[in-house]
Amino acid sequence: MKDVISLVRPNIASLEPYSTARDEYKGEIGVLMDANENPFAGKGINRYPSTSAKDALRSKISRMKRIPCGNIFLGNGSDEAIDLCYRIFCRPGMDNAVAISPSYGMYGVCAEVNDVAYRPVLLRDDFSLPVDEIIAACDNNTKLVFICSPNNPTANAFPLESILKIVEAVEAVVVVDEAYVDFSPKGSLLPVLSQHRNLVILQTLSKAYGLAGLRVGLAFACEDVIKIFRQVKYPYNIGTDTIELALRCLEASDAPSEIKTLVAERKRLEGILREEPCVLEVYPSDANFLLVKVTDPSGLYRSLIGAGVIVRDRSRVPLCGGCLRITIGTYEENQKLIEVIRAYGRES
Ligand SMILES: *Cc1c(COP(=O)(O)O)cnc(C)c1O
Repeated sequence: MKDVISLVRPNIASLEPYSTARDEYKGEIGVLMDANENPFAGKGINRYPSTSAKDALRSKISRMKRIPCGNIFLGNGSDEAIDLCYRIFCRPGMDNAVAISPSYGMYGVCAEVNDVAYRPVLLRDDFSLPVDEIIAACDNNTKLVFICSPNNPTANAFPLESILKIVEAVEAVVVVDEAYVDFSPKGSLLPVLSQHRNLVILQTLSKAYGLAGLRVGLAFACEDVIKIFRQVKYPYNIGTDTIELALRCLEASDAPSEIKTLVAERKRLEGILREEPCVLEVYPSDANFLLVKVTDPSGLYRSLIGAGVIVRDRSRVPLCGGCLRITIGTYEENQKLIEVIRAYGRES
């Protein structure tokens, strides 16, 4: 494989990044007259976010994940990192991205926004990873390959060896989206990150960590790729309050304590749903949601909506005919869902 840096768009490779005077000044902070801020600190957030606060959050994540700070990018959600991958590697109107299908919708939306051809490769009928088909879908203009594991909406995680086979075979950046990895017994690719310069791993504080409102996403990659992420992102992509709140939440508890509860609830719900006559199949899940095939997805969806329970209708997504995607809630919320499904079963 050519070095990953040769995949970077020429205009990005030669970019003179925006730099702030405060980044250049290394001494003790004195009088700040460089950024046209309001000097009155009444609201406590009159200054642009400081580099040191972000560094502290990055160090915390570095210790939690056992990955050096130089390999970590903090984004405004993983969605920012997905968009940056396109902007860094794909020449609009020329390059393409390969992705598994069905999968997370943002890969395709960002491709469209960036005028990059999108090549979905259907999973096998059992939702397993079609390794050879994915490799075959790549050509000289393929710059990105998206693999989401555990995959949204199919809920299964792929074997790490199968993903690595793709990482090793393609002349492209492989973006492995691990948004749900904390729920998965199959584990993360983070331990082998240092062995693969064309691997980008995405994680997020939005799911297991319970901080979706904050908008903090994580990208892990080799130092050279992370440097480019930092050059291309907007200068102050994460706000001061967000950084401080994220740090405080992560310091309060490293391993999110709710994971065990959610996995137990998922197993309980799985067992109950399998017994319902309107449920045809509950697919195995390595995530915090279930993909459930039912007899009449729009009918059940409407009943649930009528009772104030909102799930995701995935029945028009490839390979997901008849399927609803249900996020695991609290015990009480799951009971409410079960109640509505049982009532629906009695009426139909
Ligand atoms: C929810 C989700 C994310 C999270 O995105 P954020 O922008 O970090 O909130 C990323 N990838 C997948 C597949 C998801 O389902």
